[in-house]
Amino acid sequence: MSEKFDVIVIGSGPGGYVAAIRAAQLGLKTACVEKWMDTDGKQVLGGTCLNIGCIPSKALLDTSHRYHDVTHSMDVHGIETGKVKFDVSKMMARKDGIVKQLTGGIAGLFQANKVKPIQGVAKLLAGKKVEVTAADGSQTVYEADNVILASGSVPVNIPPAPLVDGVVVDSTGALEFDSVPKRLGVIGAGVIGLELGSVWSRLGSEVVVLEAMDTFLPMVDKAIAKEANKILGKQGLDIRLNARVTGTEVKGKKVTVNFVDAEGDKTEEFDKLIVCVGRKPVTDNLIAADSGVNLDERGFIFVNEHCETEAPGVYAIGDIVRGPMLAHKASEEGVMAAERIAGQKPQVNYDLVPSVIYTHPEIAWVGKNEEQLKSEGIEFNPGVFPFAAVGRALASGEGEGMVKLLADAKTDRIIGCTIIGPNAADLVQQVLIAMEFGSTSEDLALTMFGHPTFSEAVHEAALDVQGHAIHKVSRKKRK
Ligand code: FAD
Ligand code: NAD
Repeated sequence: MSEKFDVIVIGSGPGGYVAAIRAAQLGLKTACVEKWMDTDGKQVLGGTCLNIGCIPSKALLDTSHRYHDVTHSMDVHGIETGKVKFDVSKMMARKDGIVKQLTGGIAGLFQANKVKPIQGVAKLLAGKKVEVTAADGSQTVYEADNVILASGSVPVNIPPAPLVDGVVVDSTGALEFDSVPKRLGVIGAGVIGLELGSVWSRLGSEVVVLEAMDTFLPMVDKAIAKEANKILGKQGLDIRLNARVTGTEVKGKKVTVNFVDAEGDKTEEFDKLIVCVGRKPVTDNLIAADSGVNLDERGFIFVNEHCETEAPGVYAIGDIVRGPMLAHKASEEGVMAAERIAGQKPQVNYDLVPSVIYTHPEIAWVGKNEEQLKSEGIEFNPGVFPFAAVGRALASGEGEGMVKLLADAKTDRIIGCTIIGPNAADLVQQVLIAMEFGSTSEDLALTMFGHPTFSEAVHEAALDVQGHAIHKVSRKKRK
């Protein structure tokens, strides 16, 4: 038996690395096991988020947005650009540099906080023992008073579209293309499909998105999902709903996709195909049968609201447990688990988890939307304000979209907000903070907002709930 720890964290994604740092800050002797290695055999920290998820995708979204802006939006400013050249390899090198900087930063934070990184594949055994198999096959068993499982998730594969190196890829492959595909197919009009579809569309690909469901973004407020469909369609994303892929065939460097939609059988040919139909938790070989940890009916690790599994002293956080697969949700759970191990009693407010789709404009929401409130029979007052009436938005060429704020009809407390528009991710966060403090729409309406800012759309939406938005004619008249 080797070293004993107060806490062993399995996985170094935004759940695991945050949990490990917080545990160490609280004076607990902490180790974090991570299996990921680069081609030089060096351990890679940061998980999906930093390496093949949030960060690299946003780096490519940024580059592609700049390129699209330069090639499509300069004339109106009187800026002549001439012939614009684009180099995919430089875009990728920039992305890789950002990833390296951030993952290296985690290694530095581990060192500064005295978190011990252990390379290898970890498995939880009975009695909170953790077996680690290193790259050379050697095994070490560590003991811990507490274990935090944070092994994350991987993409779901579908039988009609098996991955074929460089042609049919998952989200990871779609972050690595070495050229801009002329025709790009995307299976799944979810978050990844829209974000990565946008990246390559902005760079010149003709993008067709095949979505099995007949509703576009069913988790988003209906009116805003409709607006998003319209805007993204105008940008060139050919989104086909009710399209069920039945098979694919790769011939040379092209892929043929067979699918069925409302009109019958169809076929499309693409240069590349991205399969992004959801992600599944990583639980294979993670827990021994006698570890006391169980899975729920959907294959996630079963936990209570404090991320405690059924084995005392064993926690599970992030993408391997119920709830949205989001980096910030994983991190908050990591902090909660570490603080509970240290004897504190924090909670995660699962009612206020923000969601963002980083298209342009961004789509962001928190709390309940109109359809959810109606189905739950909760009466509400809506406030809506379009960015087309916001001076700063027009000055920045960002007049598309709107803010929709919902307040409880009895208490006026804000119960939901959905935004499509410039900086929606950051604007929704303002509303979330107000909601966290129990604000009413009147509180927001009485708050002074700087001018000219995009945030004024949030202010006007709150005023609209009150019935007296200034820069639009409010539907309802209240004093
Ligand atoms: P992960 O980040 O998946 O990390 C788990 C780690 O555990 C991995 O490093 C893995 O190697 C390691 N591991 C697994 N098993 C073992 C084992 N047995 N032993 C040792 N190590 C192990 N979320 C957002 O909030 N915002 C975004 O903008 C966003 N964009 C995304 C874009 C893409 C393309 C993708 C794919 C995902 C995106 N996500 C985004 C989702 C986000 O990345 C995940 O929700 C988040 O990474 C989950 O964190 P985690 O710590 O639970 O797991
Ligand atoms: P998703 O669940 O967002 O979307 C998958 C889509 O694929 C759905 O619309 C689904 O109906 C469709 N689909 C499923 N099977 C299909 C099939 N056979 N044919 C056609 N369509 C099919 O999943 P994702 O886009 O893969 O993203 C995975 C997770 O990663 C998400 O849960 C999300 O939370 C996270 N993520 C978050 C962000 C962000 O926060 N900005 C970005 C990327 C990923």
